[in-house]
Amino acid sequence: MIPSLMPTYAKYDVTFERGEGAYLFDTDGRRYLDFASGIAVNALGHCHPHLVDALREQVGKLWHTSNLYHIPAQQKLADRLVDLSFADSVFFANSGAEAIECGLKMIRKFHNDNGNPERYRVITCVNAFHGRTLATIAAGGQEKHLSGFAPMVDGFDQVAFGNLNEMRAAITAETAAILVEPVQGEGGIHVANADYLKGLRAIADEFGLLLFFDEVQCGVGRTGKMFAYEWAGVAPDVMALAKGLGGGFPVGACLAVEKVAKALVAGSHGTTFGGNPLAMTVANAVLDVMEAPGFLKSVDDHAGALWKGLRSIAADHPGIIRDVRGAGLMIGLVCAVENTVLRSKLHDLGLLTVGAADNVIRLLPPLIIDQNHIDEALGILSQACRELEEA
Ligand SMILES: *Cc1c(COP(=O)(O)O)cnc(C)c1O
Repeated sequence: MIPSLMPTYAKYDVTFERGEGAYLFDTDGRRYLDFASGIAVNALGHCHPHLVDALREQVGKLWHTSNLYHIPAQQKLADRLVDLSFADSVFFANSGAEAIECGLKMIRKFHNDNGNPERYRVITCVNAFHGRTLATIAAGGQEKHLSGFAPMVDGFDQVAFGNLNEMRAAITAETAAILVEPVQGEGGIHVANADYLKGLRAIADEFGLLLFFDEVQCGVGRTGKMFAYEWAGVAPDVMALAKGLGGGFPVGACLAVEKVAKALVAGSHGTTFGGNPLAMTVANAVLDVMEAPGFLKSVDDHAGALWKGLRSIAADHPGIIRDVRGAGLMIGLVCAVENTVLRSKLHDLGLLTVGAADNVIRLLPPLIIDQNHIDEALGILSQACRELEEA
């Protein structure tokens, strides 16, 4: 008999009751160091006092009005995201996939309104992940996500990540845009280098394509800058955000430059829940913390310390960890053993991590970690490596 809860996830057999900063506590009172952050969502850890205060104050005032009326916190968050980024305008959604969907629709509408309705195809990369809706699984192009869900939404072509020649060769008269994660997450932590992103910008400009970055996982402070594209000094035309933006409250955002954003007008796109006062209040509180002087610098500094330790452990245990890659606090341990084996060992020793493709374990600690958390995580990782070597 099917469980009443639809069994769509493979779950660890643990139930968490409470979270505090970088720690989670299970129902037996056991403490775990959380380097999973709910898959890069709890960017400020659990129950950050500023977020708790902001949500508490809002929750007694107003939860939801719909987008039929003005929502001041939405305006405030949009102004801030515009100030912080390349963008001129923002649409709020509830998730990463919805933010991507908004971008895809905007891109089609942009070309349509410019007299090029035949331009609707988007080039994406192998190993991409853009969400689980029908359009976003087609964008991701991964067989494991598409299998059984035919017909696939039309309009996506795939090329190898990091290969500008393939990208160029895939462009046709029907190409509308290029969609890329500056750091691939689910795909196994692959970082697009600055030359690649610059090359994509040049190709997009040459062929009149729009450049769409999926920063749902790598954006909002994760790499040590507010947005990962800043490292390359390359701005997209459209960008999706979600995970870290709400610090644990569901929210998504699609940012765009004016010429693209203006393709969406009243009636052309919408959402009932997107941008509701609760989500907007929490996202504004997240930005309060991240925009404070020194915050991103400290993310970068702590990332440096963590990377140093991880590289040294990898060098000491080449039979367990083959490589360390990523950007800032979005880190992939390329495993020499089955990643599930190392991940379970880390879990048993009290360190939570996330799996990824390519036999990678993702370390996605909250951005508020300090040296003590780093030392504790490195200690657990060393121990796990030793125990696996002895086994
Ligand atoms: C998680 C993720 C998504 C999908 O976000 P959901 O909120 O699960 O819909 C899209 N793109 C990237 C890069 C992601 O990591």
